[in-house]
Amino acid sequence: MKNKPDLADGAEFEIVFVGRSNVGKSSIIRKLTGSKVRVGKRPGVTLKPTHVRLGDLLVTDMPGFGFMSGIKERKQDIVKDKIVHYIEDNAERIDLAVLVVDGSSFLDIVARWEERNEIPVDIELFKFLNEVGISVLLAINKMDKIDEAMADHALDDIVEKLGLPSPWNMWQDVVVPVSAKQNDLKKLSSCIRQRMHVARRDDLFRYIH
Ligand code: GDP
Repeated sequence: MKNKPDLADGAEFEIVFVGRSNVGKSSIIRKLTGSKVRVGKRPGVTLKPTHVRLGDLLVTDMPGFGFMSGIKERKQDIVKDKIVHYIEDNAERIDLAVLVVDGSSFLDIVARWEERNEIPVDIELFKFLNEVGISVLLAINKMDKIDEAMADHALDDIVEKLGLPSPWNMWQDVVVPVSAKQNDLKKLSSCIRQRMHVARRDDLFRYIH
């Protein structure tokens, strides 16, 4: 089908990043790995995953779904289907999925979908990932935009929407508030390393900062 060398060839440990456009997936990957993936891509334009390859570690930035009003609903479904197929096709190789949400807008976006009696794509994908048995982390990004006094409350509401009973900090190994902007990603990298450790791949620690 394609002649380009495939960055995925020979990869043994894959982490996929999934999330709405503009939530900060590329920023997080860039800061965690020190490798450039495109930041501020035009939302909805890319339908193919972008990869970073480090040794036999593959870090995959899935196409983002949804972005304000510019993207048609049908396109969101196409993106969602692409993500689901990629994950199903590569389930054997995928060790970890990181669902990234924008903590400062997630609840408003969910409310808008709920008004239309629809399930937000993020929530569907979170369920899907858990159902296929892939280990999932929920990275709640842009915490710098949330008033500190409101943070616990907002985080409780976010995890409840995703089907996890509050309080959020009961899910320390799954739910990780972060801020790529403020370089506050330590907790996320330690959760990722923890999964690598469980897979007896401590040798990969050096790729995740
Ligand atoms: P992606 O579409 O999910 O890959 O998102 P990008 O990484 O391209 O980021 C989208 C926008 O959000 C960019 O303007 C980033 O600078 C900004 N951004 C990313 N992370 C944060 C964060 O933690 N806080 C704030 N305030 N902005 C962020």
